[in-house]
Amino acid sequence: MTVASRIVIAGAGIGGLTAALALLRRGHDVTVLEQASELGELGAGLQFAADGSRILLALGLGAEMEKIVCEAEWKEVRVWSTGITRKLFDLGADSRERFGAPYWFVHRGDLYRVLREAVTALKSDAIRTGARVTGYRDQGDRVSAQLASGTTIACDILIGADGVHSTIRSQLFESPQANFSGLIAWRGLIDMDRLSADLRRPVGANWVGPHGHVVTYPLRSGKILNFVGIAEDATWRTESWSTTGTQEECAAYFPGWHASIQAMIWAIDQPYKWALVGREPLARWSKGRVTLLGDACHPTLPFLAHGAIMALEDAMVLARCLDHFSAEPARALKRYEDLRIERTTRIVHGSAANATRFQNPVLADAQAAEDYLDCEWAPEKVKMRYDWLFEYDATTVQIDPTCGSKIGVLTP
Ligand SMILES: Cc1cc2nc3c(=O)[nH]c(=O)nc-3n(C[C@H](O)[C@H](O)[C@H](O)COP(=O)(O)OP(=O)(O)OC[C@H]3O[C@@H](n4cnc5c(N)ncnc54)[C@H](O)[C@@H]3O)c2cc1C
Repeated sequence: MTVASRIVIAGAGIGGLTAALALLRRGHDVTVLEQASELGELGAGLQFAADGSRILLALGLGAEMEKIVCEAEWKEVRVWSTGITRKLFDLGADSRERFGAPYWFVHRGDLYRVLREAVTALKSDAIRTGARVTGYRDQGDRVSAQLASGTTIACDILIGADGVHSTIRSQLFESPQANFSGLIAWRGLIDMDRLSADLRRPVGANWVGPHGHVVTYPLRSGKILNFVGIAEDATWRTESWSTTGTQEECAAYFPGWHASIQAMIWAIDQPYKWALVGREPLARWSKGRVTLLGDACHPTLPFLAHGAIMALEDAMVLARCLDHFSAEPARALKRYEDLRIERTTRIVHGSAANATRFQNPVLADAQAAEDYLDCEWAPEKVKMRYDWLFEYDATTVQIDPTCGSKIGVLTP
């Protein structure tokens, strides 16, 4: 029989809220402590491949998600200068047939609202805002989260879902050193009505270039387009979701790019800029009754679009481990870490490898660029790079270590 635990989660991001939902559904008493005084997510898009969407479906959010997602027909890769296009992979029915779940594009704010409502429907006061966690005290048979207000909250298990600058991680382990990638990410939302018909197609696109790349996809039933433009910049070092810029500034990073890219940049409502920072994955995530989840333990460059998905997968596997080893919290947390570390490390490294694939000097020449597309995005290579990601099922990964080791790492 599962023993209900008192669980405190530091951080009400996408990872913290998903963990809260999965744990509340299992009968645990969960409190989420969020430093922000108000709940809300900045506007931008997220891609949810089958490994992420199947978790939201398993948590009973299918009907709510269907109202807010956009399902595109396929993803394509395009050359920065000529616009030459190759199909990357099919989405829609193909994702459901091949991987058993849809590939969704979703506005972060919409997803955040769905998660928050699902959590508070189960426990109305589960989320406490204005509650900054400053550290914890592990007392062996319990752990206490310490807040900036001076309050402490005792619990059986503490989960640090407090993002890339995690306070819990700093106390648990040395933080992995931040390696500035030399890349800036420009992002913004575009009203589709402001774009020409050829840019209003229901597809996702990766525009690849010699010194940068651009990712676009539709959101909110195709009413808006999400734009992320990555470019080289050795000087910009602010890692923040909320730093704004201008269209002029953004356009200056993409000189000579295809007219479609120029049109998109000038149609962005409000561009935001963000310095991309890489970090080496941690070797361990848990100690005693304390563990980490999401960006707190495996922050990643966004080039496999899997940061949020990994946080969801962590949440599901952690909840299932706490079910299985409910009377032994430390063992549950160790099993969770063992099950997740290999896959998440591989994703972090794979994301970094995609940086040089998406932006490569060879793309400067139009003919060489076409050959590069045909070679790098040949169907068998795409299959090898992505299938192992999408096939993973956090809802069925074998938790009991005595029953084999199906940990979801399907290819070498
Ligand atoms: C440009 C870009 C594009 C991306 N695209 C995708 C994509 O398409 N698909 C995808 O899967 N991922 C994507 N990601 C990654 C994804 O956004 C992150 O991996 C994900 O948001 C991590 O969620 P999290 O809950 O772990 O952390 P966060 O979302 O950072 O949440 C952490 C929360 O903890 C709170 N907090 C912090 N410190 C404390 C404290 N001391 N006490 C209390 N609360 C605290 C914060 O306020 C915050 O609410 C992208 C990232 C970038 C930069």
